[in-house]
Amino acid sequence: KPFPIRLQGPVIRGFGRGSKELGIPTANIPPEGLSSYPDLQSGVYYGWVGLSFHHSPDTSSSATEIYPAVLSIGYNPFYKNDTRSVEIHVLHQFTHDFYGAALNLLMLGFIRPEYDYVSLDALVEDIRVDCDVARRSLERPGYEKLKAEEWLRDFG
Ligand code: ADP
Ligand code: MG
Repeated sequence: KPFPIRLQGPVIRGFGRGSKELGIPTANIPPEGLSSYPDLQSGVYYGWVGLSFHHSPDTSSSATEIYPAVLSIGYNPFYKNDTRSVEIHVLHQFTHDFYGAALNLLMLGFIRPEYDYVSLDALVEDIRVDCDVARRSLERPGYEKLKAEEWLRDFG
């Protein structure tokens, strides 16, 4: 079993392909960590995310929060062949963007492969279902307890 899979990195800019306009912004992290998992299938996954926000640029004060998340791992048509992207939709309503925040991702399960969609409505409907699956899976005791994993709060 490949899980749990641990990926981490700062939240970087993606291609701004309109996911925010659809109500599903995705925090991108650098894909380098994926090289440790060359056999990992592309698709939609769920897991816990630890985020470390920096409150103020001139102090070292920061806050850490743990959230449920749904994410996709896939080949980005903008990249050449072997680079995949990691795009994480955090299941929380934020009031601000958090580019640059430190992110730890504890991936716990696979939801589905990625499909080619003929309509935007079909895509958005599937993503809604993915979010429900992620929430309900993470509520199960075995997964809920992993929210306390120290690694999620360890930003080195
Ligand atoms: P980009 O192409 O730069 O990734 P997106 O449209 O995907 O742009 O928006 C992602 C950004 O939105 C994240 O980097 C983060 O700063 C912000 N954001 C706000 N709410 C969320 C959320 N619930 N999940 C993920 N990112 C969010
Ligand atoms: Mg994104």
